[in-house]
Amino acid sequence: MNIIKDIKSLNVGRVDSNYYLKDHTTYKVGGKAICAVSPEDEKKLIDLLIYLKENNIKYKVLGNGSNVIFNSSNYDGVIIKLDNFNSLKIINNKIIVGAGYPLNKLAIRVSRLGLTGLEFATGIPGTVGGAVYMNAGAYKTDMGYIVTSVKVLTPDYKIKTMTNKELDFHYRTSFLQKNSGYICIEATLILIKGNTDEIMELIEERKIRRLETQPLEYPSAGSVFRNPEGDFAGRLIEEIGYKGKSIGGAMVSLKHANFIINTGNAKGEDIKKLIMEIKDKVKEKYNIDLKVEQEFVE
Ligand SMILES: Cc1cc2nc3c(=O)[nH]c(=O)nc-3n(C[C@H](O)[C@H](O)[C@H](O)COP(=O)(O)OP(=O)(O)OC[C@H]3O[C@@H](n4cnc5c(N)ncnc54)[C@H](O)[C@@H]3O)c2cc1C
Repeated sequence: MNIIKDIKSLNVGRVDSNYYLKDHTTYKVGGKAICAVSPEDEKKLIDLLIYLKENNIKYKVLGNGSNVIFNSSNYDGVIIKLDNFNSLKIINNKIIVGAGYPLNKLAIRVSRLGLTGLEFATGIPGTVGGAVYMNAGAYKTDMGYIVTSVKVLTPDYKIKTMTNKELDFHYRTSFLQKNSGYICIEATLILIKGNTDEIMELIEERKIRRLETQPLEYPSAGSVFRNPEGDFAGRLIEEIGYKGKSIGGAMVSLKHANFIINTGNAKGEDIKKLIMEIKDKVKEKYNIDLKVEQEFVE
């Protein structure tokens, strides 16, 4: 079976047969995927999914790869990219946006129009789809506060609109994360009319704060662990003496202990080992089960 040839003959959209995950993830780790496909529309996405299912080929929808850890061996599956799902409609304070649209770009764009509610997202390097899936957030707010509904493709290939309630948003999780096979196609957000100068000032302040507190000069995938109730994962990691600890090319950042950075030649396996070691040490010392916010993709 020649998967790449088959997919090309489906005519669903661009097929990249030279897709190295280290070039498409913010940790800069991961081997080569069979290929990456960018379906042109919903119908073509469904055609692709049916082909993959019929041929028992695994796949992964990838946004900007800013919350995933692939290991160094080749990924024995197909990557689905939603870069063609990048429409944007702004009707007063209502935003209808495609899942492939970059979240940071959207946040800046609506903020400049004087709409408030998405300022928190200006430093988050994901896509709208990835942010809905993760319920991305910061500064005590998240996607769950502003998303009113999401158009999804269900595991049985139906297009359905899910309400905010159905999406079951909680701290860094959502219905989509707990139920595999759902793909976010488009999200509707409601923002509030605010003062453009004040909004832009807040964004600038937060940008400076991120630059000061986060190791943005190195590849990473943001916070490694969710903060446990009433505490900070970073504080616990410092307490076990792991700031600066490294395995292979993966190192706990000296700037922010809840970030693991790739110092140059890290493998996904190094990052995973370091994460598991931290989990064990924190459990041993504090009897706290740290929950990993990032996702290991096998
Ligand atoms: C420097 C840095 C700072 C960060 N700061 C924050 C922060 O402040 N707050 C925060 O919450 N996160 C933060 N992150 C983490 C990350 O950016 C977010 O989790 C983001 O929402 C992930 O989006 P993505 O498009 O990159 O998703 P990916 O990493 O590509 O995918 C993550 C998961 O979402 C799934 N997915 C992606 N798109 C879809 C879709 N359309 N439908 C269904 N599933 C989909 C993937 O299959 C995967 O399981 C940070 C990351 C970095 C590198």
